[in-house]
Amino acid sequence: MLIQRATLLDGTVTDIRLGAQIEELGQGLVAGKGEGVLYAGGGTVLPGLHDHHVHVRSAASALNSFFVGPPGVSTKAQLTQLLSNATPGPDGWIRAVGYHESVAGELDRAALDAVVPDVPVRIQHRSGALWILNSEALARVGLTEHPDGRLRSADRGWSQALQQRETDLAELSRRITATGVTGVTDATPDLGAEDMVSLIVAHRRGEFRPRLHFLSPGKKILQDDHLDLDSLTDWIAEHHRADRPVALHCVTAAQLVVAIAALRAAGSHPLDRIEHAAVVPDDNLADLADLSELGGLTVVTQPNFVAERGDQYLADVPPAEHSQLWRVASLLKAEVRVALSTDMPFGHGDPWTAMRAAVYRTTPRGVVLGADECVSAREALTMFLGRSDQPDRVRADRAAGHGAGRAGCRHGRRHGHRR
Ligand SMILES: [Zn+2]
Repeated sequence: MLIQRATLLDGTVTDIRLGAQIEELGQGLVAGKGEGVLYAGGGTVLPGLHDHHVHVRSAASALNSFFVGPPGVSTKAQLTQLLSNATPGPDGWIRAVGYHESVAGELDRAALDAVVPDVPVRIQHRSGALWILNSEALARVGLTEHPDGRLRSADRGWSQALQQRETDLAELSRRITATGVTGVTDATPDLGAEDMVSLIVAHRRGEFRPRLHFLSPGKKILQDDHLDLDSLTDWIAEHHRADRPVALHCVTAAQLVVAIAALRAAGSHPLDRIEHAAVVPDDNLADLADLSELGGLTVVTQPNFVAERGDQYLADVPPAEHSQLWRVASLLKAEVRVALSTDMPFGHGDPWTAMRAAVYRTTPRGVVLGADECVSAREALTMFLGRSDQPDRVRADRAAGHGAGRAGCRHGRRHGHRR
């Protein structure tokens, strides 16, 4: 296709011809026969963004879904109240997840019809293997005659209708791509091979359109009460021996300190990552920079939490530690490799929210948290343009080369020397 009058990040206005990649740039390109044309009218054209830390399945099931299990919903009265007041999602369905029999027994279509007769309702059991549909929902998926509306995932009769057309993954995909994200890294620690395969299949079918990247099996969430330097060191060394990088989830200072010590002791793999790094004491900036420089550690962080939970931090975290929260600028300044992400659905999944937070660092009430950690808009954007496997390296496709990538960050040059 041909994009006419697009503005690149350096201000150049140009036409862009696209095939599998960018084929031609220049003013006054003429559309070929049958070539699609998009008139950009001077709008900015960016490479697709990559969100370097998300949880796809959790995000899909959280979407437009009410949670109808304990502790939030634990009685039949609470369930009835929630369902009868529920607003359907954009597709007209009421979806709910997390159901358990302790709430209102073995639900069936009749029980749901009594509460919601005219809007399609589907409730997923918390096992993930059973759905209960009301009569309206059964009609929508072509199962009007179903005896009780209790559909098991193993039952092939309905799965096409429900999973392919009504799936949450397709809606999630629409929302993600609408923000300009064309690739995501699923950082879920317990993601099994089956989960990965089902996501890859959804991607191939076109149901989930962003490119998928998975972290290697070396993923671990550190917990303050289970911090054991020796066993963590052994675990890292074992993965490295198999040429697998590790991704350590660190949200406290204690976790970060142990992670740094373990990485030092075990040695580095060029693709090692620290996820979150929610708290980085001053002393650890140089440690992270050393690991980054020597081995290739990358910090994948989420400043969007400043914009989402900042007021809570201001209330709960001692003032002396406020400057250690969700750092970005001081990491860059110390020459630590950094990339941004949203942690969707635990963080808001919009990368522009994360970029704004990285630039302004304002809490919901408008207080600036960690003013020294603000970065420029260009830096914030660039940290969403990295390669899926090397998040701090701007992708070397032509789009990046001609646009944001040129600004592409001193990290790019540094890597250039090393490799
Ligand atoms: Zn996460």
